[in-house]
Amino acid sequence: MTIEVAVIGSGLSAIGAIKALQKLGIKPTVLDCGETLDLERSNLADALSAKDPGEWTEQERKALSQNFTVDKGDPIPKKLLFGSDYFYGKSRSDAPVEGKGSLPPFSYALGGFSVGWGAASLPPQECDVNDWPIKVDEINKYCEIAIADLPYSARVDGLSLNFEILQSEPQALHLNEAERMILDRLNKSSILEKDKLVFGQSRLLVRPETTDKFVGCKYCGQCMSGCVYKSIYKASDDILLLSNSGAIDYKPGCLVHEITETGDRVGVKFLDADGRENISEFDRVFLAAGAVNSTRIVLNSLKIFDRKVKLRARGGYVMPVFSFRKLPIDWPNCNTQPGIFLEFKGGWLKHWVHVQISTANELLFQKLGIQPGASGFVARLKKFMVEHVMLMFVNLHSDYAGHYELWLTQSAGKSNTNCLHSRHYKSGSHLLIFTLSVFRLLKICWKIGCLPIIPFAKNNSGSYHVGSSLPMKAEVGDNLETDELGRVSAWRRVHIADTSTFPSLPGTTIGLLATANAMRIVEKIRW
Ligand SMILES: Cc1cc2nc3c(=O)[nH]c(=O)nc-3n(C[C@H](O)[C@H](O)[C@H](O)COP(=O)(O)OP(=O)(O)OC[C@H]3O[C@@H](n4cnc5c(N)ncnc54)[C@H](O)[C@@H]3O)c2cc1C
Ligand code: SF4
Repeated sequence: MTIEVAVIGSGLSAIGAIKALQKLGIKPTVLDCGETLDLERSNLADALSAKDPGEWTEQERKALSQNFTVDKGDPIPKKLLFGSDYFYGKSRSDAPVEGKGSLPPFSYALGGFSVGWGAASLPPQECDVNDWPIKVDEINKYCEIAIADLPYSARVDGLSLNFEILQSEPQALHLNEAERMILDRLNKSSILEKDKLVFGQSRLLVRPETTDKFVGCKYCGQCMSGCVYKSIYKASDDILLLSNSGAIDYKPGCLVHEITETGDRVGVKFLDADGRENISEFDRVFLAAGAVNSTRIVLNSLKIFDRKVKLRARGGYVMPVFSFRKLPIDWPNCNTQPGIFLEFKGGWLKHWVHVQISTANELLFQKLGIQPGASGFVARLKKFMVEHVMLMFVNLHSDYAGHYELWLTQSAGKSNTNCLHSRHYKSGSHLLIFTLSVFRLLKICWKIGCLPIIPFAKNNSGSYHVGSSLPMKAEVGDNLETDELGRVSAWRRVHIADTSTFPSLPGTTIGLLATANAMRIVEKIRW
């Protein structure tokens, strides 16, 4: 008998569920909004991918990395894909969202947020998931399975004291000269201490070497704007491969808004690309529409209106750090993702604080308005800054961060037009955690001949890591809590497979965790 299974979404969570279903011999139908990059940008990326970076013209490079959020003067520029922000979802008439302050992040893209993400991937640690009903060893087992099938850049170094590599023969990207210098200074400072302060080369889902099927990093200096060579992992690349090989039945243009479970069957209501109402039935459904949209679909399906649901977020800030010694600039012949991870905890900081260290990249050049070949005092001053400043992206566990409140109100029209409302709340302990972490950074930086420029630190209020709205519990009490298989009490055959079921969010990374957890759910089901 063929089992009919649907996966809703095509992001990192969906891909975990899809790959685990594939192992069971199940070909799922993937219902996805599946928005894609516009044709002009897509053609430009394709054309540039056929050449080596050295053959690109200055104009082509500029077109690739244009970022309107830099020009708008946003304190922290948004990451875009070849100049487009299409993968950041917006309120739409067939799925309205309203909010006070920043809206929580959601995506309607093919591949979800993974099309523009940073690809930073660390396995979780016990202290960061101790409120989860699942043991960290079990989660890590699935992280290992997920990584085995993904491109990964990792090196055995100080970071491995706490963060296992989970791959037998890891390969790593080449760091640029400034990153090598900073790592060298960190190594010589004797501050490495298991369980308290570890650092090393960043762990990224990026292909370091070219294989017969895929292109490895070509060190083109454009990571912050999108990789034309597809060396940075995106769920969309996998979805398209699986769809072309016939392993999944991919249906883009579907906006799912309601799920009903009757007996052994699950009905999924969605609007198709022409806005027509459809309903399809399956034996089982995996809901991986991202934390915000999965919460919306659950509230809508269960007709839970006006109830406030807490959506947790990861917190953080960006700290510019002045280096007394000059940092050499290799750009554009380098990888511009953060090259170094620094993790610390201890004392009042019960969770790891995750710091990504970045040296000069294309966004910084744009932000400072540096023109190649420019001369004069201002140009020299800007060049001096780039040669002496690195950026530390400090990421905090959701216990230390603010959160959103989400609630759905019923409209007079069709059920998909019910409005999702949101309100953002800052964390009460924000100042304390900021002070504690900055104090630790000051001590670390001093040891390596650097100084955080604290007045220029920018709070990263719009965190892209959200979840925990339908938290997984060992014993489900509330009707919006989920069991270890991602099921709310009203459903037995619908599994919520994204970050909405994470009881809390580690400050380290959550994308890999989302893939691994979805794989775990599929494997644990008694089919
Ligand atoms: C700029 C940026 C950088 C990031 N960097 C990192 C990083 O370095 N490391 C890390 O771990 N995490 C990072 N993240 C976070 C990470 O990308 C997300 O946590 C992760 O991608 C979420 O995956 P998901 O599959 O759960 O959801 P999403 O990526 O939101 O995917 C949702 C999917 O569901 C579909 N969908 C949505 N609503 C519907 C609907 N109603 N009907 C049908 N389909 C629907 C969408 O089309 C999409 O395919 C970053 C995020 C951003 C934005
Ligand atoms: S440097 Fe970045 S954008 Fe360029 S090929 Fe490597 S991973 Fe891709």
